[in-house]
Amino acid sequence: MNILKVSRVVLTGLFCVALVSVLTGCEQPKPKTGAVDKTVKTPAPKTETQIIEIDTLPPTAAKPAVKPKPLGYQNTPIIPGTKWHVHDGLRPQPKIVTPKPFVSSPPPVGAIVLFDGKNLDKWKNKKWKLQDGAMSPTKGGQSSIDQFGDIQLHIEWASPKVPRGSGQGRGNSGVYLMGRYEVQVLDSYNNKTYPDGQAAAIYGQFPPMVNACRGPGQWQTYDITFIAPKFKGKKLISPAIITVVHNGIVVHDKVKVLGPTAHKRIGKYTDSGPTGPINLQHHGNPVRFRNIWVKPLSK
Ligand code: MG
Repeated sequence: MNILKVSRVVLTGLFCVALVSVLTGCEQPKPKTGAVDKTVKTPAPKTETQIIEIDTLPPTAAKPAVKPKPLGYQNTPIIPGTKWHVHDGLRPQPKIVTPKPFVSSPPPVGAIVLFDGKNLDKWKNKKWKLQDGAMSPTKGGQSSIDQFGDIQLHIEWASPKVPRGSGQGRGNSGVYLMGRYEVQVLDSYNNKTYPDGQAAAIYGQFPPMVNACRGPGQWQTYDITFIAPKFKGKKLISPAIITVVHNGIVVHDKVKVLGPTAHKRIGKYTDSGPTGPINLQHHGNPVRFRNIWVKPLSK
């Protein structure tokens, strides 16, 4: 064999080795089973990863504080002569005072007894519940059959023994003079509401001077003097005037009513005649009433 032939054989061999290498993709030889492959990194234990994830989480955001519902309204008309809106929750709360001992005033001479606990003869709504010498709403409001103008009125009321609801929803009713001017009835014992809507308020206009409320279930008295509004033709010449004594304490003294009482507004005076009924409100709460008498003031 000459040198040329030897070189050809060597070159052919080298070419074949190169070709095989290319065709097999130059793969790294696989480690034998059980052998440690030092080229592959061992993944970190799962627990370690989890800890890292927890540590890197942002701190739990504090729950936003629940905003208390604001008391009353400030999107209602301004009450004339004051800086307060109708049912303004920012209006100062009447000072709480201790009421005088309970006195159930018997009707004086010349008084008309509207309710003595025995029947509903003097009242239109016979659906009201009559129990234990008291009446309480079931369906619809109550209205006296007789109509009155200027009067002295005595009425006793009690909010439910077990207080339910809050604000205007607790022990709500009302005494309407001439069917139009409400002296509010409400359980205002440990029950905040807008001041012109608390017990003994002239609803939506004048809070009582003080809060003389008794506790739930206890009998309370209103002694009201009411002077009816007077008109000349259609023109108002004298507004309704109200004095209220709540549990023996004067809480309104000859207050000039601004107009018929209403929710979130003040009504406008219109001549509805010289007299009207005494109405008792049904506001969904079983307020009880008893010992109601009226003494007309007209000569
Ligand atoms: Mg009411």
